[in-house]
Amino acid sequence: MKKINNFINGSITSYSKDYLPVYDPSKGEIISEVILSNKEDFDKTIESSEKAFLSWSEVTPLKRSRIISKYKEILEKNIELLAKLVSIEHGKTLDDAKGSVIRGLEVVEFACGIPHLLKGEFSQNVGASIDSWSIRQPLGLTAGITPFNFPAMVPMWMYPISIACGNTFILKPSEKDPSCGLKLAELFSEAGLPDGVFNVLNGDKEIVNALINSKKISSISFVGSTPVAKYIYEQSAKTGKRVQALGGAKNHLVVMPDANINQAVDGIMGAAFGSAGERCMAVSVAVAVGDIAEELVEKISSNAQTLKVAPWTDDESQMGPVISKEHKNKIIEYIDEGEKEGASLVLDGRNINIQGYENGYFVGPTIFDNVNKNMKIYKEEIFGPVLSVIRAKDYKEALDLVNNHQFGNGTSIYTSDGEVSRHFTTNTKIGMVGINVPIPVPMAFHSFGGWKQSLFGDHAMHGIEGVRFFTKLKTITSRWPKSIQAGPEFKMPTN
Ligand code: NAD
Repeated sequence: MKKINNFINGSITSYSKDYLPVYDPSKGEIISEVILSNKEDFDKTIESSEKAFLSWSEVTPLKRSRIISKYKEILEKNIELLAKLVSIEHGKTLDDAKGSVIRGLEVVEFACGIPHLLKGEFSQNVGASIDSWSIRQPLGLTAGITPFNFPAMVPMWMYPISIACGNTFILKPSEKDPSCGLKLAELFSEAGLPDGVFNVLNGDKEIVNALINSKKISSISFVGSTPVAKYIYEQSAKTGKRVQALGGAKNHLVVMPDANINQAVDGIMGAAFGSAGERCMAVSVAVAVGDIAEELVEKISSNAQTLKVAPWTDDESQMGPVISKEHKNKIIEYIDEGEKEGASLVLDGRNINIQGYENGYFVGPTIFDNVNKNMKIYKEEIFGPVLSVIRAKDYKEALDLVNNHQFGNGTSIYTSDGEVSRHFTTNTKIGMVGINVPIPVPMAFHSFGGWKQSLFGDHAMHGIEGVRFFTKLKTITSRWPKSIQAGPEFKMPTN
């Protein structure tokens, strides 16, 4: 059986003898095993990161940027390979996997500009002959813990910027699809990154606990489910770490009566069922405002029936399996529950059967109409291809639904009314908002992050927020001896 180990100090390494199975979700078969790192793996990682930090933090930003530029070129040549690693272990279609690798690569591209991003601020004559400037310095050892749904893109939201800022980075990928994280680190080494600057430590919650409790690590970046995000945030803070912990979501897409309905239907289809609904920016709630509901549900339902559900190896596949048997069962329980709660099950994906892949973890597209805000299927994140349609009598009711939900990751509105859309962008309590765009995922040079139960911490990921998160601010005030007046001053200096 193929073994997936760690990447410590520039080479594939393993100390622990314990492994966990990794599955092909299309077939439900074990395809490899991933190491459950132990204390020795952890200690060697910390040792290598500490040593590397001493020299890496001294490398000039321009030289760091040149290594990152080289890495970008290498990644571009390996998009197909990385996407295949994603598809094999995650199950998503190859095109979708490629798209996610490219969105990650864009953060690497952004990090190439690090000399400019770290320039700081300077004020001449803040007082008589006194100058003042602010600089951003690296934190030290930083770590990231990532979810299964984007094994390339989400780690790439973190480590390129951390490393560009002069830190070292330890990645703990999801144990469900760990191969991509290792490959990303190997390719960075190939680009000339010194050993120990980027280490990959595989495992499950045991190794996460070692990372968040370590006093040697300065910051934790986390992306995953809300209960774990909250735990990581609280626990990491106990050892004085800086934390950004992104959690779950329940993204609402509001369709106004004046919307272009076909555009809205296309948007909802891709956003609800793409990647089997396993995206934190997936649309899991469509809010149909006024009299548009009948036509909207009818169109989504007829389109969803023609959606091709198949393994990623089938070029025509539009939606693959979900990640695991347990997750499939959990989604099915939610569908059962929705029926019991009285929502109208318009399309039922529970009993889908893909010939030759009977043991795969497939769930077909599922649509509930007449969902209300008290139902469990509305209140909780399902993280599968299940769309809830909730009917709102007017815009105000729709906005209240968006704002009163516990999650605040993304939302979108389809309308042809500029005034309504402006009101929506201003008044939604949500981190990422789309206007006639179904999945408003910010580009690398903006920042990604939700509000409420979707983000714990003060900084979103990547963009300038990433640079701020991965650096400490220092402000210097300077005066040279000849300009100093004699005698002490006991009052607060003013200008
Ligand atoms: P998860 O929370 O189960 O796991 C995420 C990471 O945490 C993994 O590396 C895992 O090993 C570790 N982990 C799991 N349980 C732990 C525990 N009890 N203690 C310590 N560490 C633990 O999430 P997942 O199932 O891999 O990913 C899906 C979730 O991630 C969804 O809720 C989705 O919305 C969310 N997500 C959010 C964003 C975002 O940007 N907000 C992006 C992608 C995914």
